[in-house]
Amino acid sequence: MECPARIRAIFAELGIATDLVEARRLPLCAEAAALEVAEIGEDGREYRMTPSAAAAWRRMRDAARADGVTLQIASAFRSVERQAEIVRDKLARGMSLATILSASAPPGYSEHHTGQAIDVTTSGVAAFEPEFASTAAYRWLAGNAARFGFVLSFPPGNRYGYQYEPWHWYYTAGQGGRTMRAYLWISGLVFGAVTLLHILRLAYGWQVQLSGWTVPLELSWAGVIVAGALCAWAFALTRRVSAP
Ligand SMILES: [Zn+2]
Repeated sequence: MECPARIRAIFAELGIATDLVEARRLPLCAEAAALEVAEIGEDGREYRMTPSAAAAWRRMRDAARADGVTLQIASAFRSVERQAEIVRDKLARGMSLATILSASAPPGYSEHHTGQAIDVTTSGVAAFEPEFASTAAYRWLAGNAARFGFVLSFPPGNRYGYQYEPWHWYYTAGQGGRTMRAYLWISGLVFGAVTLLHILRLAYGWQVQLSGWTVPLELSWAGVIVAGALCAWAFALTRRVSAP
């Protein structure tokens, strides 16, 4: 089990058993190295995320707004120390550790440490309440968030043992999204070049010899269609993968 000394010390202070992390198979979440302000709340509070997650959030929020749906951040980056404070406060209010840890991650194991997780709310509902699942904002996210690289981390019956959190979304498209976009761009360019070659061959009647066999020009018509379609497909897909 991955549990650095710093986290063990916090666990000891709060009375959290290290077995819990193993039993629930919670992945350790490192604190983000670089953060930027993704949004400033109406109360002036700054919500920070990694630069790529913040950019994806802004694109998603603007797309929702264009569809008439309001998305607001209720929580974004949270340090390990802040998470410890949250657990400490709940303990001080008399909540049991079991209850606290069914809703809050143990310090060191919150996706919010990574700067890629957000809790979303919308106008007319209280943040962090199950009723968020019946809002237009949630329905919009369920249908569109994946296009921007966000996934719902804790659906009902999730394997980590957290309560259903319809408001908690995690940005996953960082490095993978960049690589996929680059791959699709290169594929698009290659298929584009092949299409162009076929068109030039048809225009100028170029002969192509393959070990003595002259490739018929008619094959180039098929080549234009296939390579052209693959080129268009590759470029269309790049638009569906969230940009970094
Ligand atoms: Zn959350």
